[in-house]
Amino acid sequence: MEARILIVEDEEKLSRFIELELMHEGYKTDKAGDGRMALDKALKESYDLILLDIMLPGLNGLEVLRRLQKEKPTPVILLTARDAVMDKVAGLDAGAVDYITKPFAIEELLARIRVALKLHPMIQENQTRRTDGNKEGILTWGSLEVDLPGHQVHYAGHEITLTNREFMMLKTLLENRNIVLSRETLLEKVCGYEYLGETNVIDVYIRYLRAKIDNVFSVKMIQTVRGVGYVIKDPSPEEKV
Ligand code: CA
Repeated sequence: MEARILIVEDEEKLSRFIELELMHEGYKTDKAGDGRMALDKALKESYDLILLDIMLPGLNGLEVLRRLQKEKPTPVILLTARDAVMDKVAGLDAGAVDYITKPFAIEELLARIRVALKLHPMIQENQTRRTDGNKEGILTWGSLEVDLPGHQVHYAGHEITLTNREFMMLKTLLENRNIVLSRETLLEKVCGYEYLGETNVIDVYIRYLRAKIDNVFSVKMIQTVRGVGYVIKDPSPEEKV
């Protein structure tokens, strides 16, 4: 089945251009020209991926992204005309799986779309599987429980809300317990091998994860190995509770 992609872009020419390219690649497409229409469509319909411009009339892209992640998490690639690092960090933190800076080469956008679809195969589908009640696909660390198919994280029963990228990072570290992973390895696993970003984005995610888990529950889960990378080791006895 072809992936369904919503293109949210107020520049008519660019929107049409992207649409034609995506259709040529065999994707099903839909378009929205402003923030409100985008949010409306995204909540009503089911898309595998949303390409979301940040500078939009009505409701800006970051706001659309925040509301969407709250009500109906869908993989989003941000289209940003700005070079401001804060916009990108804010976007990734709000749950975007990737971003691309305008003007971009269409080949790069298509590559990022392929990676995003590979890394985030239909979150909705995963959510319906959650009700099965089986314990398969659960990673634990002390009182931490990561439900992979359900995309949920709990610490001693407290729900922790993670963005897609933070979730992937935690999953990767837990699946490689006691193995020190370099920033390059983490970048490849979390962002996809075609991701062209810098490895210091990994430090940003580690900081977010620590702020949401280590700092809140007073544990030392994620350890820094200076000059090498990061590792989650077996929990110490007091963290095993
Ligand atoms: Ca725009």
